Amino acid sequence: MAYMNMSQTGTGADKTGADDCGASAAAKSFKKLPRPSLLFTPELEAEMAPLYAKLKDVISPQEWRVHAPYIKVINALKVERNAVLLAHNYMTPEIFHGVADFAGDSLALAREAARSDADVIIQAGVHFMAETSKILNPAKMVLIPDQRAGCSLADSITAQDVRNLRKKHPGVPIVTYINTSADVKAECDITCTSANAVQVVEAMADQHDSKEVLLIPDEFLAQNVAKLTDVTVLTWAGHCEVHERFSGPQMRSFRQAEPDMKIIAHPECPPDVLEEADFSGSTSGMINWVQDNQPEKVMLVTECSMSDNIAVENPDVKFIRPCNLCPHMKRITLPAILDALLELKDEVCVEPEIAARARKPIERMINLNN
Ligand code: SF4
Repeated sequence: MAYMNMSQTGTGADKTGADDCGASAAAKSFKKLPRPSLLFTPELEAEMAPLYAKLKDVISPQEWRVHAPYIKVINALKVERNAVLLAHNYMTPEIFHGVADFAGDSLALAREAARSDADVIIQAGVHFMAETSKILNPAKMVLIPDQRAGCSLADSITAQDVRNLRKKHPGVPIVTYINTSADVKAECDITCTSANAVQVVEAMADQHDSKEVLLIPDEFLAQNVAKLTDVTVLTWAGHCEVHERFSGPQMRSFRQAEPDMKIIAHPECPPDVLEEADFSGSTSGMINWVQDNQPEKVMLVTECSMSDNIAVENPDVKFIRPCNLCPHMKRITLPAILDALLELKDEVCVEPEIAARARKPIERMINLNN
């Protein structure tokens, strides 16, 4: 099995090239808007006080003076542009709680994108998520606030790699984790997310009458899924650069220091991490677990911002916070979102033939879950 060294790959941002930017024509008719004032006035402070009361434990007063004017103008501009802002659970709290119209994991964002009737979708997440929104909304303008927001998993595999796998394993259905480019999705039978991977793998084995299923490109997700099913799961050696840094020995040492703490881990982590966990699930699954169980102390083994975002809604839970940041997610900031709305940049485009082929595996997944 091949593994593509991340240093040899791009961010996915260069995949927009000369693609289908059908919405670009519409963009030209959008009104030019003046750059709004970003002063933190006493009036603004008073108006935004209820939101800050919610966020004061995760955003300092100094940071709030910077964020509050952006939150105010971004929310006004979304109305002016008839835009919806879809935010992944790994966004920082000022985005997650301040400007998101909808926040969730990849599956929830894909569903929301499919339902959206806004003219403009702002994707506060990484490039493959914006591509998924565009594929499901070809006539809409999809903007990503920073084109460089890529993903190590998406960059670990190409469409040619998938064609090679198809030749090597004839008749074996190919499930792609949603963290892949449109080109890769176009070569696969169905997409999955960490929330539904076991269900999708089993459905594919059943439908194709196959004992084996290829689940690409996340090796650890595939190994973790393999433990929960009788289907033989073949995989690829892609990794998430955030989750691969957690380890079983690290978990045991945290547990020794905090014996009464619950550990909940994302399935992109290595299997020895999940062996130490009290629960494993998608980002939304992790949020629901904390809300439902209200543990006294909990450690979320995933990207840093999740703990901050959940802590706001769960004041009685103490969060132990090992911090692995996703540098790609962190490219999305309030100033970048403001620029995207003002200048209607950067539009994410997918070549129509690829989009048509990539839509099928995404829709198959959405239909499987409905
Ligand atoms: S957290 Fe991992 S999987 Fe998610 S965008 Fe960042 S690198 Fe990709």
